[in-house]
Amino acid sequence: MARVYNWQIGRKMSYWYGETRPKKQFAAVFDTNKCIACQTCTLACKTTWTSGRGQEYMFWNNVESKPYGSYPLAYDSRILETLGPQLWNGGKYEGRTIFEAAPAGERVLGFSPATVDYAHPNVGEDEIKGTVDGGMSLDLPQPVWMFYLARICNHCTYPACLAACPRGAIYKRPEDGIVLVDQKNCRGYRECVRACPYKKVFFNSHTRVSEKCIGCFPAGEEGQQPRCFTECIGKIRLRGWISKPSEAREDNPVDYLVHIKKVALPLMPQLGLEPNIYYIPPIHVPEPFLTQLFGPGAARAAETYRHAHENNAKLTSLIKLFGCTTGTIARFKATAKNVSAFDDKGQELVTAPLKEPVMVRTAFDSVHGVPRMNIN
Ligand code: SF4
Ligand code: SF4
Ligand code: SF4
Repeated sequence: MARVYNWQIGRKMSYWYGETRPKKQFAAVFDTNKCIACQTCTLACKTTWTSGRGQEYMFWNNVESKPYGSYPLAYDSRILETLGPQLWNGGKYEGRTIFEAAPAGERVLGFSPATVDYAHPNVGEDEIKGTVDGGMSLDLPQPVWMFYLARICNHCTYPACLAACPRGAIYKRPEDGIVLVDQKNCRGYRECVRACPYKKVFFNSHTRVSEKCIGCFPAGEEGQQPRCFTECIGKIRLRGWISKPSEAREDNPVDYLVHIKKVALPLMPQLGLEPNIYYIPPIHVPEPFLTQLFGPGAARAAETYRHAHENNAKLTSLIKLFGCTTGTIARFKATAKNVSAFDDKGQELVTAPLKEPVMVRTAFDSVHGVPRMNIN
């Protein structure tokens, strides 16, 4: 075991390999407040990459309803329960990561889901936490709540799948940090499936090897965002690059949201993988649940987001860029009227107005002699 620094838990930790960071790290921010669980992302990935034999129950992208939804079944509660106390002291995690809690002779604390755990991808869909009693009013955080959590592979800085593979068949690309399975080298031992706490590696029962989200790297190499991002109906996703905290740039959208405004947070950072998909937490959910899922900064992040329109024009502008371009956004610039996105070469990808123009038409169309159903 080596000692590596994990900024998400504010300390060094044990990991199977030494610390090597890619030249650039694939990263994204998902705004949970905007997801409508339409599953267009799920289908976009499924029809592009996993429509073959042995891939029937494989969802590289899935969207689950929290608190009861999970795919595969109870993937999150099982590892959180097994790990034991997860105490934070400010920004420093004082519990054990899944690498530090590994049983003797194993590299990672994990578990293997049963086949039946993959049978119901939409279990718990739209189920709310709590009951609606008479006289209840709408308040924040809400006593009765649920929200949608869209998930893909996190292309972790310290991937558990990679650490666990006895054949070294999983690797992290040095040019973009995307984590891939080398199918020729894989022998289907399923150690990766067991190790990944997010359960984002899947076993193909037809080819007998493991498969996982590839971050749509062919699109990324052309400067494009992944399929599940460009097809997202709710415009909840933004793909870019993340820097180390000490190198964070104000004009890098992911850096700005994660490091500078701290409004986007990793999923279960206490597990120790330094995952690179970041979430703007829902604003209507009680703090203990948010903290368990996104770490100790979750309540503050939700508050920052909730008040952004009152006191943070730059943050509000950036949120408007989500879903406005199919290109990977390396840089952004906001003015009083517009927000613009730029690619790696500094080429402008899109400029969006901060206020959409509203056209109001007369209620009666005198040219066609008919009333209008929609006047704006
Ligand atoms: S989310 Fe799982 S599959 Fe993806 S890189 Fe991390 S450990 Fe590997
Ligand atoms: S990034 Fe690409 S491969 Fe990964 S879940 Fe999205 S569409 Fe599928
Ligand atoms: S397409 Fe977007 S809005 Fe629809 S479920 Fe997926 S992440 Fe949510």
